[in-house]
Amino acid sequence: MTQQLASGVTLANGVNMPWLGLGVWKVTEGGEVERAVRTAIEAGYRSIDTAAAYGNEEGVGKAVRESGVPRGELFVTTKVWNADQGYDSALAAYESSLQKLGMDYVDLYLIHWPVKGKYKETWKALEKLYKDGRVRAIGVSNFHEHHLDDLLQDAEIKPMVNQVEYHPRLSQRSLLNYCRDRGIQLEAWSPLMQGKELLDHELMKELAAKHRKTPAQIILRWDVQNGVVTIPKSVTPERIRENADIFDFELSADDMRRIDELNENRRVGPDPDNFNF
Ligand code: NDP
Repeated sequence: MTQQLASGVTLANGVNMPWLGLGVWKVTEGGEVERAVRTAIEAGYRSIDTAAAYGNEEGVGKAVRESGVPRGELFVTTKVWNADQGYDSALAAYESSLQKLGMDYVDLYLIHWPVKGKYKETWKALEKLYKDGRVRAIGVSNFHEHHLDDLLQDAEIKPMVNQVEYHPRLSQRSLLNYCRDRGIQLEAWSPLMQGKELLDHELMKELAAKHRKTPAQIILRWDVQNGVVTIPKSVTPERIRENADIFDFELSADDMRRIDELNENRRVGPDPDNFNF
């Protein structure tokens, strides 16, 4: 189990990234985030997704240190927040995140949102960190195809990952193909649509009964079978374990197609073309 959960995809630069990680957005700094991360690592998770903006990097770092799992076996992601975009400010933001995490590197550093007029300079800072060997992989988040087209015009290094909202109501087929063609790994945020609607959907219940799994497990398995890394959030120990238990069954081509048909291009989070933060 642990081994399967720890197994992952090889990013364009050869770094291995686990297929499944724990998301910690809205998880409170201190005891709550420490408990969630500890529970996840005990359950076999080897990847944690945080961000400067989540305000819980210290707790993530503490739980990672206290887990007893060697740092080299874990994959930690954090992100540069919008207010810190720009070359010098992004470099400074990285140092600040490392300090809070109590780490000397992170595995993946992402541009959190494509802030207009800023993200190219920010990308230069991430390239510098990468070239200096300070971070194992760099990427972006919430980038549409046109943002990537624009970034790639000037980039020396291609983003290794694009983390976007992705679930059966927003299956992002075109972006997924675009990223695949360019060796950019897609990663799903809000894979469970923030716990709304999909978990009670008749199709999910039907497939859950068929595979003796839960609706959440069906959705997360759909991510992985589509070649998308996934990072469900939970602070509930049973759910943290449940969400990871997706490596012992397979959805059929027909199951996959039926889930694909739920797409409505519908978001629960902001559209990257129209955000005001
Ligand atoms: P998710 O889609 O992961 O849903 C989380 C919600 O679902 C919580 O309310 C959780 O409840 C509930 N839940 C989790 N597992 C189960 C289960 N097995 N059965 C029933 N309910 C369940 O939402 P998030 O928005 O948190 O997305 C996941 C992660 O993606 C974030 O934590 C963050 O790391 C990342 N993210 C990145 C963004 C970006 O801009 N880059 C934006 C948004 C998220 P409970 O915790 O109470 O158990």
